Amino acid sequence: MLRRLPEAVVNRIAAGEVVERPASALKELVENAIDAGAGRIDCALRQGGAASISVDDDGAGIARDELALALERHATSKLADDDLVDIRTLGFRGEALPSIGAVSRLTITSRANGASEAWRLAVDNGSIGALEPAARAGGTRVEAAGLFRAVPARLKFLKSARAEYLAAADMLKRLAMARPALAFSLEHDGRRAWASPAASDLLARLADVLGAEFADNSVPVALEADGLRLTGHAGLPTWHRGTAQAQYLFVNGRPVRDRLLQGAVRAGYEELVPRGRFPVLALFLDVPPDRVDVNVHPAKTEIRFRDAGRVRSLIVSALRRALAEEGHRAAMPAAAAPLVGRFRPGGSSTPPLALAERASEWQAPLDPALAPSAPPPAPEAPGAAGLPLGAARAQLHDTYIVAQTGDGIVLVDQHAAHERLVLERMRRALAEGRPPRQALLLPEVVELDEAGAERLAAKAGELAELGLVLERFGPEAVLVRETPAALGEADAKGLVRDLADDLAEHGLALALKERLEDVAATMACHGSVRAGRRLGAQEMDALLREMEATPRSGQCNHGRPTYVELKLADIERLFGRR
Ligand code: ADP
Ligand code: MG
Repeated sequence: MLRRLPEAVVNRIAAGEVVERPASALKELVENAIDAGAGRIDCALRQGGAASISVDDDGAGIARDELALALERHATSKLADDDLVDIRTLGFRGEALPSIGAVSRLTITSRANGASEAWRLAVDNGSIGALEPAARAGGTRVEAAGLFRAVPARLKFLKSARAEYLAAADMLKRLAMARPALAFSLEHDGRRAWASPAASDLLARLADVLGAEFADNSVPVALEADGLRLTGHAGLPTWHRGTAQAQYLFVNGRPVRDRLLQGAVRAGYEELVPRGRFPVLALFLDVPPDRVDVNVHPAKTEIRFRDAGRVRSLIVSALRRALAEEGHRAAMPAAAAPLVGRFRPGGSSTPPLALAERASEWQAPLDPALAPSAPPPAPEAPGAAGLPLGAARAQLHDTYIVAQTGDGIVLVDQHAAHERLVLERMRRALAEGRPPRQALLLPEVVELDEAGAERLAAKAGELAELGLVLERFGPEAVLVRETPAALGEADAKGLVRDLADDLAEHGLALALKERLEDVAATMACHGSVRAGRRLGAQEMDALLREMEATPRSGQCNHGRPTYVELKLADIERLFGRR
């Protein structure tokens, strides 16, 4: 029999798309407060939001006569005309309140601007109660209690209270980043979890979300073209993380997760950030409303652009420009990389002059007095010149080792090479059992977000097996006591943060072995000789000899070469002698 479904059933079906979990309910309620013109928005969750979610604002409020309408499906005050072309509010579908009301006990208390009293209306899993007078100075408070309690099929998909809370907190912070002028606060189980006062500029709000260090490690981005505008702050290429989680992207003030935008960000940082690493950034794209469709999915986090190509090139050029202006702070692309492939024994297709020009980009200054970092000439290691990587002769720019071989020269990127050596050392130590570790003179406190601290603490046992001993230190930090000896003087802070990212990304899904390899690679990166450290003659030779004895030492852990070799014949060709 064909029949029309009762409204309560329709709402419950729709609720499946609009409210998936507490975080999505919180998002809808906060968006409503923002749309209502609130100046402050106070949120509170109990048991990760499963017990209750409440959002209190000082916005325009809802008039007595409209309270019941607000709970009705497809009733909205936000679409002035009926085309879906010019959408300037976060909400417009008129389905959040009825949907949440279909799967919880929802109470709205509100006092409209200019009204003399406040009113309350509740709906209990779809059945609407009676309008009651209430006490309230202004604005609106919406509370959803017992989310999904009447829908066991959905309830069982909720994760732990902790996980739901963290997802909700992340959602709130994303919304808050796009509205620095509004004050936000979040309570969990009665305790203040996060707050950010109304900020005069974006960077202050970003610091409240991403940490104070973000300001020092980012550059402003601003570019306008073709009626599109991109603003925000982009992290320096050297300040990267293990996942894309800290890439915050917004379109017309709406947090989005969009592949097109993520791809454009990747292209903007091309060659600046190692593969598999993600810079931290917050970018805001403003597109005329008629050139973007946000009505792709009820949760409104997916979007479609009418001119995707323009959006992409705007982002790529804005990032490249912003990062290039800060070239002295950012890691530049390897100028010599294209050169490597051209020097294949057996001749080159590139005219010698062009090669010579390229080569001058990385040549050492001719006047020895201008080469500040050249160490005293190395005492020749007996017979070293006959070995594959030759005898170390000089260090240039505190970064490259120049060695002489039997029939040419070798240029080694000391950081890339050392990183590989450390990784292979750690692998050996892992294969042999417990790797040796060393205690820090002073245990180091590393501040993280709550989720990160929690994940690391939960894995403390496995990390200790790898030689990293840490423990939880308050809600948002861990204390590092020992580091793997293979790392030498490790950068504990960077290491621990990256590991937290790795855990967020991979969780428990990876096989233990693979995970250990991953962790080892992250650790190796932080334990390596940085580019910019001066090495003595013996240190340089020791590095070359260890490279010769270590598998895979021709590539760093990111797949880039660790050294390039020029045969005398290649050099002669460069000078037009052949
Ligand atoms: P939408 O936001 O898509 O319009 P909702 O179901 O979320 O749909 O809300 C329905 C209506 O209720 C809104 O259009 C708005 O008029 C009113 N409303 C909801 N929350 C608030 C609030 N916090 N302050 C003022 N009005 C609100
Ligand atoms: Mg809404």
